[in-house]
Amino acid sequence: MSKVFLVNVDRCNGCHACQVVCKDEHCQQAWPGYTAEQPLVGQFWCKIDYRERGQVPWVRVSHIPVLCNHCADAPCIAHAAAAGKPEAVYQRDDGLVIIDPELARGISGLAKSCPVGAIYYNAELDLAQKCSGCAHLLDNGWSVPRCVDACPTEALLYVEESEADLSSTTQAPELAGKGSRLYYKNFPKRFVAGTIVDMEHNNVVIDARAVLKDAAGNVVAEQMTDEFGDFKFNQIEAARYTIEITVPGFDKLVISADVTEQDLSVGDNDISHLLVDLETAKAAAEAADKAAAEAAAAARAVSEKLREEAAARHEHVAKVSKTSLICPKCGKKMVAEKIEDVTRCQFCKEDFTVYTLEQLGATGGDLLAGNAAAAAAPSVSAPKLEL
Ligand code: SF4
Ligand code: SF4
Ligand code: SF4
Repeated sequence: MSKVFLVNVDRCNGCHACQVVCKDEHCQQAWPGYTAEQPLVGQFWCKIDYRERGQVPWVRVSHIPVLCNHCADAPCIAHAAAAGKPEAVYQRDDGLVIIDPELARGISGLAKSCPVGAIYYNAELDLAQKCSGCAHLLDNGWSVPRCVDACPTEALLYVEESEADLSSTTQAPELAGKGSRLYYKNFPKRFVAGTIVDMEHNNVVIDARAVLKDAAGNVVAEQMTDEFGDFKFNQIEAARYTIEITVPGFDKLVISADVTEQDLSVGDNDISHLLVDLETAKAAAEAADKAAAEAAAAARAVSEKLREEAAARHEHVAKVSKTSLICPKCGKKMVAEKIEDVTRCQFCKEDFTVYTLEQLGATGGDLLAGNAAAAAAPSVSAPKLEL
């Protein structure tokens, strides 16, 4: 049995806890047989790579944890062997690749042999250094390395290879064919996003149909603009596209989107000059307004009903977001890796249930948390979230 590192990029919020605890574990202390001291500055055995994406107003940052991939056919091992020191860099039975802190001293070019830059050169010790997988901890009862243990969102996992869901993962292309043991889930591809507006009436356009087509004219994806008039096609391949915007009463708007090199914000796109049928446009706008108002009213009604029921029991109901939750009883905020799994406040130990307005028969994507009694009241049998 051997383990692999599994990084879920969607869950990484760039908190740097992994980077900090790696320093805590390895700076100013050596682990003989495993690692020499990591210098206080200049080395990041676990590094968070920031990727700024898009342009104003659609700017996003993706955080990518980068560390040694513990390759099965590692170029660093081959380099040490070629330098006449095959025992200086080796792979353990559990898959971890170790640079021996004594035997590897003086091997010229070892730090540069890693295609992903995971090795650093310590001039003071004349030694190449890198992530050891915290092998000294794993050999002494730890089940995961420090960085994995510290990650609050489970973005970083160390899991049995045979049990891990490695479908839809990617690996560092620089290590293709080298047996990398680090997998990325939800590695950022490209996005294109924008807003549809009617400048003549100073409105955003809700429920405009946006169809993404590739260079050959094939439909790749389609969606309706949201209540802010926004559309966003995410995780698409780097390529040239067109986006066709259709709104009842207006001629079609075609937007070019070249995301071969970078993510793209196409900004505000005015359709007012494309108006061809005022009556149809008016009717469509009124229908969209009405539907949005009805949905909002229904959501408010359910929310209000729950609050009233809870108040009658001297209980509380609170909103939660996709990543955090406010305890219905004590009001303290918790960050939740899986909202649907939270059933007890970590502070006041109150039990509660999380459920969506949709599950209560209303439209809208809000989430609510109520204590167990409040949640049971509105005939919610088995809450199941669609986040
Ligand atoms: S990622 Fe780099 S340092 Fe780590 S095992 Fe592979 S080649 Fe060696
Ligand atoms: S496994 Fe250990 S040495 Fe490697 S990056 Fe994580 S904390 Fe640092
Ligand atoms: S600790 Fe986890 S969430 Fe924080 S930066 Fe590291 S991988 Fe990302």
